Amino acid sequence: MVANGKSAFIYSDAFTKYKFAEEHPFNPKRLEMTLDLIKTIGFLDADQIITPRMATQEELARVHDTRYLDAVQAASQPQANPDDFATWGLGTEDTPIFAGMHEATSLIAGGTLLAADLVMSGQYRYALNMAGGLHHARRAEASGFCVYNDIAVAIAHVREKYGARVAYIDTDAHHGDGVQWIFYEDPDVLTISLHETGKYLYPGTGEIIERGEGRGYGYAVNVPLEAFTEDDSWMNAVRSVIIPTIQKFAPDIIFHQNGCDAHTYDPLTHLSASTHIYREMPKITRLLAEEMCDGRLVAVGGGGYDIWRVVPRAWTMLWAELNGNELPERLPKAWLERWQLEASTALPEFFLDPPGSFEAIPRRAEIEEKNEIMVRRVLNGTPFLY
Ligand SMILES: [Zn+2]
Repeated sequence: MVANGKSAFIYSDAFTKYKFAEEHPFNPKRLEMTLDLIKTIGFLDADQIITPRMATQEELARVHDTRYLDAVQAASQPQANPDDFATWGLGTEDTPIFAGMHEATSLIAGGTLLAADLVMSGQYRYALNMAGGLHHARRAEASGFCVYNDIAVAIAHVREKYGARVAYIDTDAHHGDGVQWIFYEDPDVLTISLHETGKYLYPGTGEIIERGEGRGYGYAVNVPLEAFTEDDSWMNAVRSVIIPTIQKFAPDIIFHQNGCDAHTYDPLTHLSASTHIYREMPKITRLLAEEMCDGRLVAVGGGGYDIWRVVPRAWTMLWAELNGNELPERLPKAWLERWQLEASTALPEFFLDPPGSFEAIPRRAEIEEKNEIMVRRVLNGTPFLY
């Protein structure tokens, strides 16, 4: 399957330094828990772990304003005053400043960039940086827990170094706005985001009419889905939109942002998915990468705020898919015992939420119909498909 039969797992303990505050929902403990689950289950060999370096100023400046980079570095100092950085989206409730912020977020950007290099150079077929996926960061503004946009940094890198045409798939519950706006006028970067409608959810964008600009018109694809959308309707939208657009676009590499906050347990969003979608979606993107671009696939993490019950399962299933590992039904006892001591809620025993785990959604039929109409409107309005 892969040059050496394995995928690259980009990781450093220093990833956990990307931490805003003790009570902040973006909690790096989820990385430790997931890594521990992947190791406990026996899905990771030591030689698959590749340590990243920080992205350089030059690499970051491909997508970020240099004045913004200076501001982040100043905000990173231990004595920095949060009030001085409001114009850059920093020091807010969502994205507070913290000492070492520049270093921590540069390392995450360097990680996704490394993943992209390993895949483009043919050293690995697939690579995962689960600390990556900071899709809300803008050219000159931090937003929604994201300081530097690691995905955009890596995409700009493969555009420049390899001249690669890129497809970006974002299945986080929130709109992948940062990546979309950065490449909004670029016809060689297709961005596809499926998300909960922005009606009641940050960042409020991701409307169907956002389709790109200038030469990039048609190369931004948005599928805003109804609140309380469940697995079947979500997966129907994923398959109906992602498969034909990627097949027609024929990218050289696929990036997939795997935020797992569409799960019904997620405290920040209003979707009603189970973990089944987190087994299905990586399979689809992996097969598309095989079909369209010699397997070149970079997977990153993203949102996911039920750190106990959702993130470790979702991203372990993602990693299993990238390695052809057969997933057991149950989580290992040793892992459950270890983390149950700390967890604020009962940990689930199965990877896939068993049938009947959640209450039925009363408006299911109406939601499904609205989503189907949305999918048709998206496809009809994507000019390069025809
Ligand atoms: Zn999200």
